[in-house]
Amino acid sequence: MTLAPVLDQIDQDLDTATERLFDLLRIPSISTDPAYKEDCDKAADWLVNELSDLGFEASKRPTPGHPMVVAHGEGPDDAPHVLFYGHYDVQPVDPLELWDNPPFEPALEDTPKGKVLRGRGTSDDKGQLMTFVEACRAWLKVHGKLPVKVSFFFEGEEESGSPSLVPFMQENAAELKTDIALICDTGLFGEETPAIVTRLRGLLGEEITIHGPSKDLHSGMYGGISINPTRVLAKIIADLHDETGRIQVPHFYDDVAELPDDIKAQWDALGFDASQFLGEVGLSVPAGEQDRTPLEMIWSRPTCEVNGIEAGYTGDGFKTVLPAQATAKISFRLVSGQDPFAIRENFRAFVESRLPEDCTVTYKPHGASPAGEMVTSNPAFKAAQKALSDEWPRPAAFVGCGGSIPIAGHFKTILDMDAMLIGFGKDDDQLHSPNEKYDLECFHKGIRSWARVLAELA
Ligand SMILES: [Zn+2]
Repeated sequence: MTLAPVLDQIDQDLDTATERLFDLLRIPSISTDPAYKEDCDKAADWLVNELSDLGFEASKRPTPGHPMVVAHGEGPDDAPHVLFYGHYDVQPVDPLELWDNPPFEPALEDTPKGKVLRGRGTSDDKGQLMTFVEACRAWLKVHGKLPVKVSFFFEGEEESGSPSLVPFMQENAAELKTDIALICDTGLFGEETPAIVTRLRGLLGEEITIHGPSKDLHSGMYGGISINPTRVLAKIIADLHDETGRIQVPHFYDDVAELPDDIKAQWDALGFDASQFLGEVGLSVPAGEQDRTPLEMIWSRPTCEVNGIEAGYTGDGFKTVLPAQATAKISFRLVSGQDPFAIRENFRAFVESRLPEDCTVTYKPHGASPAGEMVTSNPAFKAAQKALSDEWPRPAAFVGCGGSIPIAGHFKTILDMDAMLIGFGKDDDQLHSPNEKYDLECFHKGIRSWARVLAELA
């Protein structure tokens, strides 16, 4: 089965593909607001109908929240089986007055940077999920079948914390497990470099409270003779990093692997502009580990940050108090290999070794999730990289993601499968904000990209 006529079909069909996407965009499937429950249901039905029309065995699956959509297609036995994930729910639209057009009346708009699809969900995630559906449509129209076996898994609660996702995946693990998952909910790197996210940082949160005197004290009466927990806390926080930015918690880096040379070369070739990145938030100098590149700092190195401090009197005016306690919220972004629970223990030992006489510490843990790293030796990654590089002006890169994308971790831990995160959004898509948009070119090339990925995977 040849690819060229499939790509031609996609080019010819772009207008009607856009119309179909607009149909889905007109359904206000805001998952977090109970007022839109029926609309979420309608969006699920819309997808079931669409996939059924294309010949997939599609069904809407109830959950305690909004329904899932699952669909299965036919494919050659000797080709891999892929599971495509996306979400049909969207973020709320307020403040409504900041929208130039009503959010659920999607429109094609001319802008100085080209044509864009405007409306809630255009980029996150209805426009993105439809890139894959349309790619399948084109293959089926031209060849009557797909080059690989395809299943779909759509969620309707992604924008509201995915409460039903894990139980559903556990209950339906056998049905959902395939050779690899494809997730389309991320973006390009810059304007024209397609990206496959292969590493996601984990997160460990810990709240510590240093206790000293049995009550708040007057600094005239007790200042000088009594210990001040705020000073103890400040000293602990100051000790967390050395002058080169390296974290001082014992054994913190023991299981952190060096970035492989080929990945490092890919990242160096991306031409990441740290001063522009920092300039957008009023900064100029990368402040992480000084012997690391800026991309390593945000993608492949672990961090320790203080997210909040509370102690003493912080209201208007002034009060000469020696507080009885001082609290800090501290989080660690973790990378592959690091065990969040071991790090929590080592961090606590680090704190306790710095406690002076008369001070004690209490802890409140706030989540501990490991980082994810995809096994990129899986041939599917190379195949997708080639497919994307063929479509876009610049070669595709395996990139990191400083945050966490829980669904990718769930595929790994619940279904024991790797996920390829490939998306065509841009930084200025205004996700979750008024006037969300998706470049028409991203939609078009996104469809073509998936058509190529399917061909390469076969
Ligand atoms: Zn999304």
